[in-house]
Amino acid sequence: MGLFHRQFLLGITCIGCLTVATPGWAQATLESWRVDPHRRRLEFRTDQPTQPQLRVVGGQRVVIDLPDTRWRQPQTQQDFGTTQVRIAQYQPDVARLVVAVPEVISPAQVRLEPQGSQGWTVVWGVPVNASTILQSAQWQGSGILLRLSGPEVVGRVRRSKDRQWLYVDLPNTAVSSSFQNQTRPYNLRVEPGAMGSLRLALEVKTSDPDWQLRPIPQGLLLTRPNSTPSTNQTAPPAPPPRPGTKTRYTVLIDPGHGGSDPGAIGRGGIQEKEIVLDISRRVARLLEAQGIRTVLSRTQDVTLDLEPRVALAERVNATLLVSIHANAISLSRPEVNGLETYYYQNGQWLARSIHKNVLKTTNAPDRGVRQARFYVLRRSSMRASLVEVGYVTGAQDAPRLASSSYRQQVAQGIAQGIIRYLDNLSQK
Ligand SMILES: [Zn+2]
Repeated sequence: MGLFHRQFLLGITCIGCLTVATPGWAQATLESWRVDPHRRRLEFRTDQPTQPQLRVVGGQRVVIDLPDTRWRQPQTQQDFGTTQVRIAQYQPDVARLVVAVPEVISPAQVRLEPQGSQGWTVVWGVPVNASTILQSAQWQGSGILLRLSGPEVVGRVRRSKDRQWLYVDLPNTAVSSSFQNQTRPYNLRVEPGAMGSLRLALEVKTSDPDWQLRPIPQGLLLTRPNSTPSTNQTAPPAPPPRPGTKTRYTVLIDPGHGGSDPGAIGRGGIQEKEIVLDISRRVARLLEAQGIRTVLSRTQDVTLDLEPRVALAERVNATLLVSIHANAISLSRPEVNGLETYYYQNGQWLARSIHKNVLKTTNAPDRGVRQARFYVLRRSSMRASLVEVGYVTGAQDAPRLASSSYRQQVAQGIAQGIIRYLDNLSQK
């Protein structure tokens, strides 16, 4: 919000009001919950009536917020095959249940059914386009058998840039609720694919040639070609597989402002809060498509102080925090346009990586990587960066920031900057 960012003020003025206002909000308690991944349903009960709010985030997470409700236990996370349930006190007065599902689903495929006034069932469905079901993956000595039922599919194999992952994309395919991710002898798991399709990620040795996929009567067989020819044996041995990759990281994306705080307002009335939420969602989708767990500090147009943003990042144990804002200066300065990226202490290389990549995808004027004492940068323990994606008051930036194609370019740059940065972390 402008060169004199509102974050400074909120950070100082709002800590007091938060601590005063907190007690007494929550009335109901989330008492019990139960998930049945095979029937794709979650049941939960509260001790008082409440009004659950349900939405689908990033195509793969069903988020249920219980207003005025407390979760009186530590944050919970449990895996049920490829389905994961997380429960936390998201805000002082909001308990949150998150069901992470293995396929990409649309909001129309999820329903919330009341069971009396204090019980609910959430049911999520198989993607509508999917006609083939992946039943299991099994190591067979010569390869991995992907057992499929339904119409034949033509799978596609791709390799990650760092050569550590092999991706198998299966169009029009859903995963059986009894499917188990594998860890031995290979780490193989389901990841989000495009809408209606399924992606399997297989961790391989960087020295491995590409694996091959061929149809067999039971489904598809994924085989590792014979070891490298002897002429290659003078090459240095490949390093042992690392215990994990960037997929074990969590990124918190923080769209600035929201609700009663519009942030900067620019040419044509464009509002910072709306622009940055849209860009943030796009970044989250791009990161999740790479298997990086991503948490948004807000997914809607809601008022949110700075303190809970940082608290959330700490609670989800985020590896990185990236706050997304748009800049402003007086409307009489239309010539001021461009990208600025900020860090406080430990986020300098993250900021540089994001900045460089956004410049690449957008060709925006370069206003530099800078150090500043923004609240979210100062108060977070993880590496953090704040991106000012452009000037809503700028003659060049304003119309670009209003367009969805430009927002996608910005999001691609931010996501790439984060991914490159995590790649470097993985290699240490
Ligand atoms: Zn701002």
